[in-house]
Amino acid sequence: MDKQLFSQQLIGWYQRHHRDLPWRRTKNPYCIWLSEIILQQTRVKQGLPYYLRFVEAFPTVQSLANAEERDVLRLWQGLGYYSRARNLHQTAKLVANEHRGVFPGRYAELLMLKGVGTYTAAAIASFAFNEKTAVLDGNVFRVLARVFGVETDIASNEGKQVFSRLATDLLPDALTDVYNQAIMEFGAVQCTPATPDCLFCPLNRDCQANLTGRQHRLPVKKKKGNVRERYFHYLVLRQGDAVHLKERPEKDIWRGLYDFYLKEAPAMRTLDDLAGEEDVKELLAAAVVEKESAVFTHVLTHQRIRAKFWHLRLPPGASPAVAGPLRFYSPQEINALPKPILIANYLNRPFF
Ligand code: SF4
Repeated sequence: MDKQLFSQQLIGWYQRHHRDLPWRRTKNPYCIWLSEIILQQTRVKQGLPYYLRFVEAFPTVQSLANAEERDVLRLWQGLGYYSRARNLHQTAKLVANEHRGVFPGRYAELLMLKGVGTYTAAAIASFAFNEKTAVLDGNVFRVLARVFGVETDIASNEGKQVFSRLATDLLPDALTDVYNQAIMEFGAVQCTPATPDCLFCPLNRDCQANLTGRQHRLPVKKKKGNVRERYFHYLVLRQGDAVHLKERPEKDIWRGLYDFYLKEAPAMRTLDDLAGEEDVKELLAAAVVEKESAVFTHVLTHQRIRAKFWHLRLPPGASPAVAGPLRFYSPQEINALPKPILIANYLNRPFF
């Protein structure tokens, strides 16, 4: 398909059909960066309220830099991939302290920021600074693979190079920022993964996937990696109105978030099985078991967690020593703590 016609068709389509989103009405690199980090691995519908809350709570990069990490994580709660929130906070500090609050304006400089990969750097450079760089996200991969009939695996190094060359080659000489928005929006709205609207598509007469019936085979993406199965046994320790929570350790999922007293095992265990461990034995000796939950399944990208909860009530003043010093939080304090969504949802259940 002719390069000029391709960009003209996309820009024309964008002007008629694009969604009105707040980060498209600004050239402020802080807001654009914020939106791009939030929208990594997140759909617009889910990310939009988070974006609005962040901009309201932290209207400038300086205000985000000055925030407590715990408050940033709390605002992020429910979006998952919490390293994004920690990187966001660290990058805000770096921009505030080392760049005097001014965002770097070039693609190559933006790439140096934590949590900013090639796609995000290209998006900020293009949307905020009009730099002529091609954006390449999942939507763009899909549109290019289908329109040009490219069968190279998009998850492979070769695929990244092939698509990067093609995307760069297709960039128009003018309005590259609008074109970049257009191709991403086109992938999100028109050329969707499962139900592309080929009948009313302006590219349908030239699109290779449409001409050869390969819409559902393109793009090619080979699956990799196994899902790790994990079994979490939570002891929900209560004392009066307060509940024990602890901060998650450094080298695991949900770092910096708070969850209940956790025993992990290679398979699902009963409470009797767990009582073979010293700390659980001591907790059970001091507490009354009030109830136990069903098993919940929580799926992450590379992990599947099965979680079960046992509610243990400790009498006032009891502090079992084997389990270490236990910190208990009031309901108001718990509400302010950042928690994995598995825990936040469990706390919101009517029986809690
Ligand atoms: S014709 Fe169908 S597959 Fe091709 S670009 Fe349009 S919506 Fe996508």
